[in-house]
Amino acid sequence: MMMAGDDAALDETLASLGLTRFTPPAPKPGGLVHVFQIFEERALARLGGIADAYAAPGGIGFGFTEHRDLDAIAQRGSKDVICIYSATVRTMWSLANAVMGIREMFPWIDDIDRLGAPPPPPKGELFFVQQATFASEPIRRKLGAALFDAAMDFALMHEVAHLWNGHVDLLHQRHGPLPYREMHLVEASGLDLAEAQAMEFDADSFAVQKVLARVARENPFAEFSEGLLRDHKVPQDGELTASWYFTWFSIYVLFRAFDEACIVAAATPRPQPSAPLRLACLLPTVAGVAARQGWSKLDMGQWEIIASEAALEAEGAFCRLRRAAVDTDTFKSAWDGRAFDVIDYHLRTWERLGPALAPLRRGAMPAAAGSVTASARIA
Ligand SMILES: [Zn+2]
Repeated sequence: MMMAGDDAALDETLASLGLTRFTPPAPKPGGLVHVFQIFEERALARLGGIADAYAAPGGIGFGFTEHRDLDAIAQRGSKDVICIYSATVRTMWSLANAVMGIREMFPWIDDIDRLGAPPPPPKGELFFVQQATFASEPIRRKLGAALFDAAMDFALMHEVAHLWNGHVDLLHQRHGPLPYREMHLVEASGLDLAEAQAMEFDADSFAVQKVLARVARENPFAEFSEGLLRDHKVPQDGELTASWYFTWFSIYVLFRAFDEACIVAAATPRPQPSAPLRLACLLPTVAGVAARQGWSKLDMGQWEIIASEAALEAEGAFCRLRRAAVDTDTFKSAWDGRAFDVIDYHLRTWERLGPALAPLRRGAMPAAAGSVTASARIA
């Protein structure tokens, strides 16, 4: 295995933005491992699962940088690079735990809590968790960990899309070898806003398909199904109903946290619509792909009910944590058909963007086998 701190492509990418690597803190006695380390291991396993080049040692430059923006970057250099900003991991982990700390959220979960579960970790150890992959956590924390996992998987696959769908290469072609970043993208690169919006939609569509494919395979929220279905009237989809519901919940929280971070960082203009509309825009893709792949029997209307119910619950939790009122009018207006107008707008941009991206689309960069440098490969 490549040693941490031994990735020149990642360091070079960060240096181009004036950033440095953030290394996950070392484990503590008693099997306590930092949440960054757990996420890093999962991210590398998932990246290895979608491309042989990423499965090779050092096949992708993956890591973190310490920064207060809720951001992520994708870059192609001597190999593919994905860097997640520390605030993204911290915020999503804190939010998932805080949401589950609201006793009124999913109250059914406490009814089915099992006796004999191990006690929660000592106070002040929010970010250090048991290595046994959350499995030994009390059930509320376990659901929080699963929500975090689904949200971060989406964030990761969204960055993969920027690499594979030609977005990073197009940015290089037009504006030089900048990394593709989520916040300040248009400000920093001069990328056309409509094109950036269409690429963000493309990356979300790619990510949601990868995430749902995994959810259909692994059914990660199965154990929360009984309680959820007792309290929520949502369209049934066999054993996967709860996993669909909580996956939408997770993705919504990620979008919502990103909205908040963009406002705080005054990141404008931004190429993503606000959380409810961003989620609604994914539904036609999901309904189509899920039916085609045989993942689900839900139709478009049923997908919309599950996704909007989960998103509203997530919005309620988010507002409660921020002591803000839910803006129900803005939320509801996302589901009144305006997503189709947004998609239509992206498709019109795609008429000129699609042909530019087509020759740039490809999978992972081939693994450089560690010792082979870019110049050696050219020679
Ligand atoms: Zn993006």
